[in-house]
Amino acid sequence: MTDFTLDEIRAYYACRVRDLGQTSAKMWRGKCPVHHGSGDNFAVDSTTGLAHCHSECGKGWDILGLEMELLGIEFPLAKDAVYALIGRPKQTYADRDIVATFDYTDEHGTLLYQVVRRYPKKFAQRRPDGHGGWIWNLESIDRVPFNLSAVLLAKNVIICEGEKDVLTLKRNGIVATCNSEGAGNWKSELARHFAGKGIVLIPDNDEPGRAHVLKVAASLHGIAATIKILELPSLKAKGDVTDWFAAGGSADQLRTLGKTAQVYTPGFAFVLAVPSEEDKWVYDPSAVVKEAGGLDRFWNLAAEEGIPTPYAQLTEDMSGGLRKGESYIIAGMRGSGKTSLMLQFVSKALMQGIGVLLFSLEMGQRDVLRRLISIRSKINLAQLRILQKQRISGTITTQDISLLIALERRLKSVTRAIDNMPLLVHQKPVVTPAYLVSETHRLNERHRIGLVCVDHMQLMSSDGNEKKEYEKFTAISRAIKGQVVRELNIPGLIVSQVSRSNSMDKRTELEITDCRGSGALEEDTAAVILLYHDGEDLKRARESGRLGSGPIKAWLKLGKNRFGQCPTYLELQHFKGFTMFDSGDERDFISETHFDTEALNRAEGRV
Ligand SMILES: [Zn+2]
Repeated sequence: MTDFTLDEIRAYYACRVRDLGQTSAKMWRGKCPVHHGSGDNFAVDSTTGLAHCHSECGKGWDILGLEMELLGIEFPLAKDAVYALIGRPKQTYADRDIVATFDYTDEHGTLLYQVVRRYPKKFAQRRPDGHGGWIWNLESIDRVPFNLSAVLLAKNVIICEGEKDVLTLKRNGIVATCNSEGAGNWKSELARHFAGKGIVLIPDNDEPGRAHVLKVAASLHGIAATIKILELPSLKAKGDVTDWFAAGGSADQLRTLGKTAQVYTPGFAFVLAVPSEEDKWVYDPSAVVKEAGGLDRFWNLAAEEGIPTPYAQLTEDMSGGLRKGESYIIAGMRGSGKTSLMLQFVSKALMQGIGVLLFSLEMGQRDVLRRLISIRSKINLAQLRILQKQRISGTITTQDISLLIALERRLKSVTRAIDNMPLLVHQKPVVTPAYLVSETHRLNERHRIGLVCVDHMQLMSSDGNEKKEYEKFTAISRAIKGQVVRELNIPGLIVSQVSRSNSMDKRTELEITDCRGSGALEEDTAAVILLYHDGEDLKRARESGRLGSGPIKAWLKLGKNRFGQCPTYLELQHFKGFTMFDSGDERDFISETHFDTEALNRAEGRV
């Protein structure tokens, strides 16, 4: 938890939650801004900034968590927003992910090292380098217990698994500690600090948590005066003492439980069963509502979260865009521009601050980045290439040279600002379903991934067991749906290349049955977006010579649409020079594009 000053806490709540009244020396109360409640159920501790809704939400937030909840944004953006609001300087990109820092000090309070918690949850350790900077390891550093100065003064100490829990207990007037680096990393050098003390160990509610407290207990056996292990009742899988307090536990109840806890002796056996992790997949009706964020949210169908598509109409047709935990297909023939279309989806997601992982099996990382920047800066790369060639050959006009310089300057300035583009392009040429799953999980540990894309599915390899093409696509589709988008709770967007088995088939309109492995796609995906050029307009374009640069009329057809009607058709114009599809709808970003067609024609020597 980031520490805010009293003034900062006041500034934040004055801006975000109206009409909070003071009910005691340190508590403010008012209407819950999250579920828009009518009673005074929203309580804020004005000294810590921690808020709790005692009504429908039934949960609490720190300031950054509340900002994420209120604005529906990810942690780094919430941190930026809060800092701007309370007047702190803007964070560097690397620091935006830091959720909290925990100081480990010696008995005099001098900083020895620090544990850094990042978003998403990931820990690192660092120590002062003596010059105002940090060394990011704890090599040859003796570990100390967290909160050491309080531990040394206390007769009784609770040992739990994480710093967050120690601080929860501290806020409730209880002295607690933990070791750095989490479960399994208790070092024997820590034991001496607990000589003669009464110790209560509270394990996190999972097997590693239990193994950890047994290791700590064994290390303190014969050193501490007494050792007890407290199994907190009715804790969910992986739950900790902070969860227990959040569910309504009090310091007095905890003290009572501590008195009756089992005394540790070698060969200690736990009484309660550890809940299965698989329980997270199983819901009863009240759990469904709770998971949705309360009754209001459960029934607020209009606000169903999804990443908007590049086209407002398509987003509406799909009832809210790309939803978490669902996979989507963009299907098109070779040359239909399906990669360009996919990049427009990616660009839209990036502009919302959503992290994107793109497995680009066809296009190189440079082309991906150039195309995204051209979409963002609204510049025609075909035009740029022609002008650059003319500059080399000395045939460029003075008018066009200033245009070229302006285009290059704009591209470079947008490229310099790409640190706000949370994109990862994965370039490994051979990708199997199992590899895609493990890589997405691995990268998700370090980066916030909010959308995973594959371009394209036919270039993926099989894990080796599937003989038929149909079986291969089924395996890919299952892996993406079952082990990526469901488990990470993000949407997946898969590009699929269509090829007609019958070359005599001259239809331009696509059907789902044209997709290879269509059975699996049909079952596993929430929507199939079919992209094709309009047959009539294609003929006219061929005759008039605009086939190369466009615009050519194209259709987006929703051939499957689990959350809306189908089929639906959206008419687009394919500007090939811009590698862009334009809907002409003023609600869409791309329609703001200033296509400099006059300069393009000049550059191509047509005028
Ligand atoms: Zn609430």
